[in-house]
Amino acid sequence: SPAANDRPTRIVVDLGRLASNLHLIRARVGVPVMAIVKANAYGHGLVPVARHLQTVGVERLGVAFVEEGIALRRAGVTVPVLVLGGIFGPQVAQFIEHDLEITVSSLDKLRQVEATAQAMGRRAAIHLKIDTGMERIGVHSYSCGPLIEAACASRWCVLKGIYSHLACADDPDSPMTARQLERFQEACAHFERLGAPMPTRHLANSGGVLHFPDTWLDMVRPGIALYGVLPGSASKRSIAVEPVMSLVSKVVYFKVVKAGNPVSYGATWTAEHDTRVVTVPIGYGDGYPRALSSRGEVLIHGQRHPIVGRVCMDQFMIDIGRHSAWNEDEVVLIGEQRGEAISVETVAEQGGESPYEVLVGLNERIPRRYV
Ligand code: PLP
Repeated sequence: SPAANDRPTRIVVDLGRLASNLHLIRARVGVPVMAIVKANAYGHGLVPVARHLQTVGVERLGVAFVEEGIALRRAGVTVPVLVLGGIFGPQVAQFIEHDLEITVSSLDKLRQVEATAQAMGRRAAIHLKIDTGMERIGVHSYSCGPLIEAACASRWCVLKGIYSHLACADDPDSPMTARQLERFQEACAHFERLGAPMPTRHLANSGGVLHFPDTWLDMVRPGIALYGVLPGSASKRSIAVEPVMSLVSKVVYFKVVKAGNPVSYGATWTAEHDTRVVTVPIGYGDGYPRALSSRGEVLIHGQRHPIVGRVCMDQFMIDIGRHSAWNEDEVVLIGEQRGEAISVETVAEQGGESPYEVLVGLNERIPRRYV
């Protein structure tokens, strides 16, 4: 709505950086990229992000739910889209109708898809999901033979890919990734045994892309790294991806708090001496982590200042000490200002969350601007 768009608090999405991150990743891995845009493109905005990725040549998109795939098709996105989540029988027709690729992870599900495809007289595009260690949806690698054989023989399914998901790839030292890769390759060996053509094999999430070249195979599936954020605290920026999202607001109020006076709900923080405190109009009702209460920092005029007292639903307070700030001065919560930066990773650490939660937590109350 126009009112929401007038908010001085906004998320700024740098589409140029998104494109350059995609190109940096593709140049390094040397295989096609399935860009993961589920959960509102990790908070960056599903449709604008997907449209831009399509414009700059992404090979495929990945979403979690069929509803997200349909939203992409309705927005005119035409590149192949894989829905990564599990399927419910009644929804299969929607996948086929909107030309969305289906994740198939059991013989039962394959039969459901085949029956719907036959009834519609249209073949369904599928990717087989192998479980190599997540114990989430996916047929175990040690018992996937019958599913692979049935998928290869299917008249109503076109086998586009086979994939699995890495549990620990954000840690370059975890031995889990090598084990998962080995199990995945054992599953893929069924195709050779059957004399069937190998479909596109994909395994690497951002952690795989950044740390494990052996997992790149025929296609990679980065999410968070595409947005310039590292997947975990042990992760390394081995590809020079840059943050795409900034979160900015403006000073909405200035006051002097006298020594001994507490600030915000619960009176958890008290001014030790007279100090200047400004109010910023964003809070946990926007998805800004409440755990940043008296822990987080923001930038004003290129300087770091601490959040004092509890983050409220729609506002929080900053102690600027002896510095000056005026109403409407820019406040950077995530991003860069005059050579200083606050990263999503830092906010996540201070707020006791993962960087994924920080990104997807920022909700629709905050308008997005695309530059
Ligand atoms: N592939 C699958 C199946 C996923 O579920 C996800 C996200 O969780 C990704 C790829 C992308 O992961 P990441 O954001 O860590 O790159």
